[in-house]
Amino acid sequence: MAKEYTLSIIKPDGVERNLVGKIVTLFEAQGLSVAGIKKVQLARKVAEEFYGEHRERSFFGELVDFMVRSPVVVIALHGENAIQKNRDIMGATNPAQAAEGTVRKLFAKSIGENTVHGSDSAKASEREVGFFFAASELL
Ligand code: GDP
Repeated sequence: MAKEYTLSIIKPDGVERNLVGKIVTLFEAQGLSVAGIKKVQLARKVAEEFYGEHRERSFFGELVDFMVRSPVVVIALHGENAIQKNRDIMGATNPAQAAEGTVRKLFAKSIGENTVHGSDSAKASEREVGFFFAASELL
């Protein structure tokens, strides 16, 4: 399996509760490295563009309101099988269904405020890492 990049976002509920270090520790414990990291206050238009594929979903407005509420931390993760590994570390979208030890089981409050985003495919990871990081920022 080749090394991959993938995008993680620690969402406002995670940053507000000072969980950045605890979450990064879970990534590093599974062999994922931080290739790039920054704290960003998303503008509404930027959040709408990032989540564009969900534009028609009933929760789109709620999702965008949440994502612009306060800063997020965007992280380009790198490692073997990074895309799937990050999804496994995150846990299911709904924290009530997330497996023990996952970020969402440990920290998420609801299906909306679920603490982390993670790219769900190679195509998504390419778009999403590029959305926040220039190639020269992946170290
Ligand atoms: P993910 O890949 O596990 O993040 O899940 P999805 O791609 O299906 O959804 C994207 C994000 O939209 C989720 O992480 C949630 O923050 C939000 N979301 C999904 N379903 C719901 C819902 O039923 N209600 C609300 N409020 N937000 C939702």
